[in-house]
Amino acid sequence: MTVNYSRRLAGLRSILAAQGLEALLVMQPENRRYISGFTGEGALLVTSDTACLFTDGRFVEQAHAEAPDWDLKLVRKTFLEALTEVYGGRHTELGFEENYLTYRQFRQIQEQLPQIRLRPVSGLVEKMRMVKDAEEIAMIREAGIITCAAFRHLLEELREGMTEQEAAGVMEFFMRSQGAGLPAFDTIVASGQRSALPHGAASEKRIGLGELIVLDLGATYRGYAADLTRTVALGHYNAKQREVYEVVKDAQQNALDLIRAGITTGEADAAARRVIEKAGYGEYFSHSLGHGVGLAVHEEPRLAPGGELVLEAGMVVTVEPGVYLPGWGGVRIEDTVLVTDKGCEILTPLKKELIVV
Ligand code: ZN
Ligand code: ZN
Repeated sequence: MTVNYSRRLAGLRSILAAQGLEALLVMQPENRRYISGFTGEGALLVTSDTACLFTDGRFVEQAHAEAPDWDLKLVRKTFLEALTEVYGGRHTELGFEENYLTYRQFRQIQEQLPQIRLRPVSGLVEKMRMVKDAEEIAMIREAGIITCAAFRHLLEELREGMTEQEAAGVMEFFMRSQGAGLPAFDTIVASGQRSALPHGAASEKRIGLGELIVLDLGATYRGYAADLTRTVALGHYNAKQREVYEVVKDAQQNALDLIRAGITTGEADAAARRVIEKAGYGEYFSHSLGHGVGLAVHEEPRLAPGGELVLEAGMVVTVEPGVYLPGWGGVRIEDTVLVTDKGCEILTPLKKELIVV
């Protein structure tokens, strides 16, 4: 499958036209990759009639291969110098990504190119990235399959006394052996009381019998991420662990049943939150329901309380309610799903029943 980068560039140009912006500097790595296909280091300068890719000697060959249609500008000393060569004579407004250009870079451009007005923008390319095309969905689907396989592989290897870090390593090694790139994020293995930490990065703690273990992992495949969480019990579980697990499972199912094109992100969040609140654990669901997944593992849209963005077919989001009881432990269940007109398709297909390893 080949990605149609010229269509993406045309899409960005029409956004710039609608914003009345003559030029945009794209420096954010995932945005740069999305628009041009280039995975190295550098920056893009897009106007209505030019598409320049700035990079240095280390990435020249790569840039020719990955972004053959772009006008390559070699950065010999500094990016600013190269930009001045290309853009020095222009009197115009130059958009930049306000979350990415550093203050130092901003100041240098102001000093070096005083005739250019710098205009901060945010979310232009990010908005394009929200709805995935067929090629992107295929890559996320593959990342999801590898992620699920790594989880199942760990279930065969998991033993009492294994450290959380070892468990994370087993899954990460397996993912790479299946063709994945680097993990999409630091694998979370949080066992026992540590499972009450929503972002409990794997530690040196040894996993004990009767503990709940939150496993949150994601492979990348050709740059695209998947994101999966399951909570399992080692050896056995007690009534309270089972109760909390079922509440989270029902909350996730309630949201999955609702999610389709046309509902808002806030409605999706509320569908899960309602179930947890009704069970009396509302204050312990301390984060939002989910986030978009693509070239970045956390991207737009956010599924959060009050969110007004309307879901569209082709968006890929996570659905990940959790309950975290300090001093006791926690449960989270997360899937990556594709929003469709009729509902949603789970891209991390694994069963939901509480697994005892
Ligand atoms: Zn996750
Ligand atoms: Zn997530």
